[in-house]
Amino acid sequence: EKVLFNGKMMDREKASFSFDDRSMYFGDGVYEVIRVYSGHPYQLEMHLQRLQRSADELDIPYSIKEQQSLKERVIELIDTNGLTHDGYVYVQLSRGAAARDHLYERHIEPFIFAFTKEMEIPLDQQEQGIAVYLTEDIRWLRCDIKTVNLLGNVLAKRQAADHDCSEAIQHRGDTVTEGSSSNLFIVKDGQLMTPPADNLILNGITRQVVLDLAERQGLPVSITPFTTAELLEADEAFITSTINEITPIKEWRGTKHGRIKIGSVTKQLQTKLRADIERTRTG
Ligand code: PMP
Repeated sequence: EKVLFNGKMMDREKASFSFDDRSMYFGDGVYEVIRVYSGHPYQLEMHLQRLQRSADELDIPYSIKEQQSLKERVIELIDTNGLTHDGYVYVQLSRGAAARDHLYERHIEPFIFAFTKEMEIPLDQQEQGIAVYLTEDIRWLRCDIKTVNLLGNVLAKRQAADHDCSEAIQHRGDTVTEGSSSNLFIVKDGQLMTPPADNLILNGITRQVVLDLAERQGLPVSITPFTTAELLEADEAFITSTINEITPIKEWRGTKHGRIKIGSVTKQLQTKLRADIERTRTG
């Protein structure tokens, strides 16, 4: 199995990190997870553009030109590793290695690596829905940047698991933000609602695809903040992510409790997303 290591293909066992990599000391790096269906990457360009944006926001020097070659390298990595089934590619861009110092210098050479992994589509969860755990969002105020500094997300996920929930849904005070590794949608009176892509959430690629699919179907969409109380009154709710696509919510736990049915709007969007993905699958 090969990994991409600063632009080169390398055996996984031979690839070793610098002790002084800033992503280790400070979480000073950004990343992407790209779905692979039957060996084809899904929405690769959107992911690489978001990587570019994350790098720009953190003042990590990374250029569009490198982005073009990274695109080719990602495809090459998938082929080299024979990832012909379903899986994903993980790409991480670190600010690079330097003696430990909070102050970063701009001449540090960034460091990129990527690996592939097989992973099936969680069809059971998509059909049966999941329980989610409502918890206070303790993360920083730049959640729009996809950084590897994921402590708030990691703690929320553990909390959810400790309450037999598959995902945490975070809220700042009364205002709902997003999952620990997913975006949230609700349906109320036939209208699809999701929080705005401001600094409080990651603008998920799946979120953007779902909004696009909804609009193309003429489904009324409202991109506006909503509260935990509105969650409990929703007719339907689901989360979206690259890895899990659209997963219906069937139960709320934590700050508030309640049950919710898997509804027709969720199922309809699942079907539309599936069709879009199938186009990728056939190349
Ligand atoms: N929010 C957070 C905090 C995430 O980690 C993820 C998963 N990367 C998402 C939302 C969903 O984003 P995407 O659809 O691009 O995977």
